Amino acid sequence: MGMDAFADTTAATAVTRTHCPYCALQCGMELRADPADGSGLRAAGWEAFPVNKGALCQKGATATEVLNPAARLGSPLLRRHRDAELEPVTWDEALDFAAARISATAAAHGRDAVGIFGGGGLTHEKAYSLGKFARVVLQTPHIDYNGRFCMSAAAAASQRAFGVDRGLPFPLADVAHTDVILLVGSNLADTMPPALRYFTAQRENGGRLIVVDPRRTRTAEQADLHLQPVPGTDAALAAGMLHVLIAEHLIDEEFIAARTDGFEEVRAEALRWWPERVEAVCGVPAGDVRAAARMFAGAGTGTGGDGGTKARGDSGTGTRAGTGMILTARGTEQQADGADAVNAWINLALAAGKAGRPYCGYGAITGQGNGQGGREHGQKADQLPGYRKITDPAAREHVAGVWGVPADSLPGPGRPAVELLASCGTDIRALLVAGSNPVVSAPDAAFVASRLAALDFLAVCDVVLSETAALADVVFPVTQWAEEAGTMTNLEGRVLLRRQAVAPPEGVRSDLDVLGGLAERLGSPGFLTEPAVIFAELARASAGGVADYSGLSYERLDASSEGEGLHWPCPTPDHPGTPRMFLDAFGTPDGRARFVAVGHEPAVEEPTAEFPYRLTTGRVLAQYQSGAQTRRVRSLNAAEPGSFVQLHPDLAAAVGVAEGDAVRVTSRRGSAVAPARINDLIRSDTVFMPFHWAGAGRANSVTRRTTDPVSGMPAFKTAAVRVEVAR
Ligand code: SF4
Repeated sequence: MGMDAFADTTAATAVTRTHCPYCALQCGMELRADPADGSGLRAAGWEAFPVNKGALCQKGATATEVLNPAARLGSPLLRRHRDAELEPVTWDEALDFAAARISATAAAHGRDAVGIFGGGGLTHEKAYSLGKFARVVLQTPHIDYNGRFCMSAAAAASQRAFGVDRGLPFPLADVAHTDVILLVGSNLADTMPPALRYFTAQRENGGRLIVVDPRRTRTAEQADLHLQPVPGTDAALAAGMLHVLIAEHLIDEEFIAARTDGFEEVRAEALRWWPERVEAVCGVPAGDVRAAARMFAGAGTGTGGDGGTKARGDSGTGTRAGTGMILTARGTEQQADGADAVNAWINLALAAGKAGRPYCGYGAITGQGNGQGGREHGQKADQLPGYRKITDPAAREHVAGVWGVPADSLPGPGRPAVELLASCGTDIRALLVAGSNPVVSAPDAAFVASRLAALDFLAVCDVVLSETAALADVVFPVTQWAEEAGTMTNLEGRVLLRRQAVAPPEGVRSDLDVLGGLAERLGSPGFLTEPAVIFAELARASAGGVADYSGLSYERLDASSEGEGLHWPCPTPDHPGTPRMFLDAFGTPDGRARFVAVGHEPAVEEPTAEFPYRLTTGRVLAQYQSGAQTRRVRSLNAAEPGSFVQLHPDLAAAVGVAEGDAVRVTSRRGSAVAPARINDLIRSDTVFMPFHWAGAGRANSVTRRTTDPVSGMPAFKTAAVRVEVAR
């Protein structure tokens, strides 16, 4: 089936219904022809799509600008030797050169010397094909992706507790009818504004919102209760809240006995975290710890001991009495004990009996567009399609059968992202990067750039000459969202068809064509390049796995309620999909959820006299991830043109910084310099920098490569730093 078979489904009105190129909300949008725009298209919200209901944030509304060929790479680029400049070449020349260098590397250093680094924004078809290309064509174990920086801690924690990792195991719309929401380390108001409507509705329906964040963000402003812990101390805060539930007999003994295992060990750990001890570690007043615990348990506001709740009911417009959710995001996950911190929050949800029933549960708010799907089908170092473990003999047999190769020819697990990048230039001698810009987005980015520069060969697939592509020996200019059909899975596990709206610019090909061209030159002709055909194979490869897509097809996704998608698991063509998981049983072999006994370890890098403050990083409304796309959109750049350092007036006074001063933030890795933004919306011992920019303001020049041992998640949120005026 051709690439454009799922192009314009409403050609009579010249409207294509598709999805935003950016975050995991995957807002439905309608693209219309607009000759006045450089891209030839104009975006508007798709009213009937059930997630965003017509709303787009300013990134989505301006997304067509990144399609403009004038701002794109229009032909492959080649650097003939290390001291040469990149120069335009033909596709054949670029593919021949890349294949020859990959072959030479494998011949000289072994197959394990070639690696792949993918991205959480890639479609399923691309992510799956990268995994297959690594294992079948290159026969290397070394493939991982930037999703490791985004979701890995929550994924690992969910697998430990529930046996399954699906970001939200319920539709986002359920939030509006949930009694109490505990939102940890997420600033939805800036990162995915259309999602905020569900939280606003929840409060209008009588629900309560608790936000945990070191900063008083626009999301935290909406909360009934805002806790501002020291970055990196979330596990202690969660344990302290559980301590209160136990001490005040607010745990759900019946649920714990009926549907969980392992509570006694967790109870013993929680008893060590009385609220005053939590206050000393986390900086959250003991009274607020108690108030939050009582509120989450549904025992009143917690502040006045009224024992009551706001008026609410079981009608379609109210919240459901006694229900609750805990939702986490990068703030709690990007820590040196990220998986443990998430499990500490899950323990709290389980102990309160707020899981495994409607309007209750734990969910992780995925960041990147296909952050969920990108970690399900083989792009991770330890994984085969269907969320199967690469070490599982039965999984290897099944997937090898689909791929038509012997199971024992498949490599074993490779290295997680930070380790993979660190071994570039030593064990890894050649690397193919697709859909990622690690020179900006990886922790300790200057080190990463030095490792990439030390490679014998670097090839990058990208839409523009990103900071990473600028280091490459070969750059392949590739298609993007509206120029190609592809599938994505949003933060709710909803599998979506992203339809093609326009033909790609001349000189640009799909990443799938790059892999096909390389495979042919590397002795594996016939590598699939058509998205619908690849998805059909992916569905077969996923059959029987945790993330079972075998009942899905392009035709079915296209037809599903006019493109609303279907939630996995969906194991047969007549299966309706699974919007809500765990209502009868969790995903563990015996169907019971697991408490995971976790403690709190001090951050590996505690402040010292030389580095007395903490740096935490994150996103702003008008930019997205490494900024490779959004920094090229005029209105977004006008709104947020560069990096900044947010600091509290007390800290600013202590270090002699005035508003707008150039501030140098220095850690043991390096420095970043950006203008000061002084306000009291942040703890006075912590500074914040957004991470979207390269150059002097690159926040990841300061962050550290230390990773969570369970998940490989880097500890982006906890670097000890010095802050001073840049002279
Ligand atoms: Fe796009 Fe996310 Fe904005 Fe929706 S919220 S328009 S998916 S960037």
